[in-house]
Amino acid sequence: MSDLSIQNLHVSYGSVNAVRGVSFEVHEGEIVTLIGANGAGKTTMLRAISGLEKAKEGSILYGGADLTKLPAHKIVEQGIVHIPEGRRIFSNLTVYDNLIMGAHLRKDTGEVKADLEDCFDIFPRLKERSGQLGGTLSGGEQQMLAIARGIMTHGKTMLLDEPSMGLAPLVVEEIFEVIKRINRRGTTILLVEQNANIALKNADRAYVLETGTIVKDGSAKDLLHDPSIRAAYLGC
Ligand code: ATP
Repeated sequence: MSDLSIQNLHVSYGSVNAVRGVSFEVHEGEIVTLIGANGAGKTTMLRAISGLEKAKEGSILYGGADLTKLPAHKIVEQGIVHIPEGRRIFSNLTVYDNLIMGAHLRKDTGEVKADLEDCFDIFPRLKERSGQLGGTLSGGEQQMLAIARGIMTHGKTMLLDEPSMGLAPLVVEEIFEVIKRINRRGTTILLVEQNANIALKNADRAYVLETGTIVKDGSAKDLLHDPSIRAAYLGC
């Protein structure tokens, strides 16, 4: 079953055509990655899916609905969680309050509590620091908090924008272990990354985006060993 189906999507900023006729699918339960260089249109793709940018043309089908016709808050209600680039946590709120903010649209109080316990189980470091202000966490801890806040939204599909950005290699490994764990718990993942190496090592399938167009796709394993991908994106 196809969870998310993007067909012939075009997104522009004035005269800049950032996404030019992109089509791809994310199936339920998968980890799919979109890789590409700076400015390829990866962030724009995610912003279009979550309703933060308007599509000029094309459709984004999710569970029978065309997301291009819905405002951003309705898209969240459909089960799409967007973890933006640069984390965007609330610096002046505690870790605990940041997490509770993730659940502000939910009415299932009992399940919110269970999800909070899950978050603390997945991220013991956030539990230790639950009273600490978000802005005082390290970069890696802030990324963990952003992902944990996404878990609190209780979505079915998580869009992750460059979770590795600015983090040390060991922290990146830790973040990707968590992403796989969240996936195993039943969340579908669409992951945008400039770090093609880590993305391809952890995803099921991948699409390569160049100047707003998909130029290659396949299993992540195949692309990891593809000589042209290795030369262009893996520096070897
Ligand atoms: P990066 O990895 O550097 O974040 P990206 O692949 O995510 O790159 P986008 O941020 O989607 O790329 O940008 C795609 C293109 O759209 C770029 O040429 C960028 O300059 C342009 N762009 C992005 N946001 C805006 C904006 N708000 N106004 C005008 N142009 C924009």
